[in-house]
Amino acid sequence: MKPKRLFSPEVKRLISRRAAAKHKRDLAQRHLLEDRALNKLQIEGKLTNLVNSTQFYNFQRCGEEHLYRICSCCGRRTEFLYRCSLKWCPLCNWRITDDRRVKLRAWLRFVRQPKHLVLTQRNFPILTRRKIRAFTCALASLRRKKIFSRVQGGCASIEITNDGRGWHLHAHLLLDASWVDMKKLSLVWGKLVGQEFGIVKIRDCRNEEFLQEVSKYVVKGSTMAAWPGDQINEFVRAIKGLRFFFAFGSLFHLRGKIRAILNSQKPDSPVCDCGSSKFLFKSETDIQLEEIRRNLLINSRIRKSKPSKPQKLPVPELNL
Ligand SMILES: [Zn+2]
Ligand SMILES: [Zn+2]
Repeated sequence: MKPKRLFSPEVKRLISRRAAAKHKRDLAQRHLLEDRALNKLQIEGKLTNLVNSTQFYNFQRCGEEHLYRICSCCGRRTEFLYRCSLKWCPLCNWRITDDRRVKLRAWLRFVRQPKHLVLTQRNFPILTRRKIRAFTCALASLRRKKIFSRVQGGCASIEITNDGRGWHLHAHLLLDASWVDMKKLSLVWGKLVGQEFGIVKIRDCRNEEFLQEVSKYVVKGSTMAAWPGDQINEFVRAIKGLRFFFAFGSLFHLRGKIRAILNSQKPDSPVCDCGSSKFLFKSETDIQLEEIRRNLLINSRIRKSKPSKPQKLPVPELNL
C-alpha cells in the first residue's frame, strides 16, 4: 500500500517559499551586522591618531569588551557585549532609533491629523556646537510662532549630512495639525535661520514610511565612515552632549501615558535559574582586577603558612 502523503504540493511549495524567505532575511541581517562592524572599524581607524578622549575609549570598547551580569544570590555569571550607546556609533545608533520608532508608533494612536514636515537651511563650511544650537533654537522659536497655533504637538528629529559641499542641517517634524500655510511657513522659517526664505516641504503621512524619516540617525554609519578623519572629528566634537530629538505639545504631554503602554508590553525583567532577580553588573576590567587581587591574596596566605627555613638539626653522634 502506498504511504499517505503528509503535505499536499501547495503546502510543500508554501513551506519551501517561507524557508527561502527566512534564509534571505537571515543573510540580510548578517550582512547588516557585518556592515555595521566594518563602519565602526573604519571610523575607529580614522580617529585613532586624532582623538584621545574617554568617549573615544568607550567607542573602541563597544562590541569588543564584555560585561558580566552576576546573580547576587548564587553568583551565576552571564556574559554580554559592552555597548557605548553613542548616537554616532554604527553598532548602537540603530537601537536608539528603533526605540524612538516604537514610541512614535504608540503616539500615532492619539494623533488625528499627522503631517510630516521637512525644514532645511543653507549649507555652511564649519560645524560647531553653536551652529547646531542656533538651528535648535530656531526650531523652538518656530513652535511659538502664530503659524504653529493650529499645531497640537509633535516631534522634531535633526539630521546632519555632508556630501563634500559643506555641512547640511535639516529637521524632520511629525506634527498633529489640521493645516499649515506652507508659503508663510517658508518666510517665517527663512527669517529664523537668517535667510530670505527657507526650503520647507510637507510630505505624505498615509503609510508608515515617514516614521523611518522622523526617527532617523543623526548620521548614518556608512556616511560617517566615508568622511575624512578631520571631518569625523569635527562632527563628533560638535555634537557631543547635544540632543537631536525633541517632543513638544501633545506628544510631550502624552509621554507618561506612552511610557505606561510600552512598559506594559515589555518582557518581564530577567530571573536567574535560582529564582533571584537581583544582579550586579561588572566590566571585564573589574573581573580581571578581582582575579589579580584574589591571586595576590592566595599567594600571600601561602607564603605566610609556609614553614620558615628548616632548621639544621644536630647530627647525633654515633657511638659505635
Ligand atoms: Zn542565581
Ligand atoms: Zn557603540
